[in-house]
Amino acid sequence: MKIGIVSDIHSNLQALIRALAIIDEERIDEVYCLGDIVGYGANPNECVQLIRRRAKLCVLGNHDLACIDPAQAYYFTKPGRVAAEWTHTILSQENLEYLRSLPYIVLNDPCTLVHANPSLPESWEYVSSLQEAQKQFGAFTTSFCFIGHTHVPALVCEDLKTFTLKKELRYLVNVGSVGQPRDGNPQLSFGILDTDCWTYRNVRSDYDIRGAAEAILSNGLPRILADRLFKGV
Ligand code: ZN
Repeated sequence: MKIGIVSDIHSNLQALIRALAIIDEERIDEVYCLGDIVGYGANPNECVQLIRRRAKLCVLGNHDLACIDPAQAYYFTKPGRVAAEWTHTILSQENLEYLRSLPYIVLNDPCTLVHANPSLPESWEYVSSLQEAQKQFGAFTTSFCFIGHTHVPALVCEDLKTFTLKKELRYLVNVGSVGQPRDGNPQLSFGILDTDCWTYRNVRSDYDIRGAAEAILSNGLPRILADRLFKGV
């Protein structure tokens, strides 16, 4: 089975449409989503609807939570808070209900899915170093734990030195961000796991960044949210 794992879409419809087109070309059997469907970008309703239609499994992200309840955005940067408040006002009741229904963590062998980290999913603590990654292996039992949140793709094996998939080893995998990459590469990012061949691939692709940026500006959202998309920061 081929599984497409997307994360951190952040209301970027142009990026999500491109990622789903690649997923169709690749004949993916199932799509999983690691949260932050909304926040920052201009098309929250369209993105939630596409994920509702396409994702078999989905978990809650911190921006989804902040768009359900803007009081939860207290620790965000100002542009993030502005976007969360705006998103809250334009999300349909149906889409808000969907976001409210999302769990923090899902186990579906051989995968554990969580937005930030499996140790304390509700803490939203980042896993952004090898040491932090190493600590997470005690918090899941499946072969793979897929995470997002940092918007930086990475694959860490439990032995910290193997970069190919081996059945006897376990992996913490960050699939990167569909809608707001932050590793200096503005191309969208997501993952494909093939459980027959036991392979994992990080997919990068161009998409209509200009369209996504124009939609942010025409909805009166902070300019920095548009500008950063061109730089991948
Ligand atoms: Zn995010």
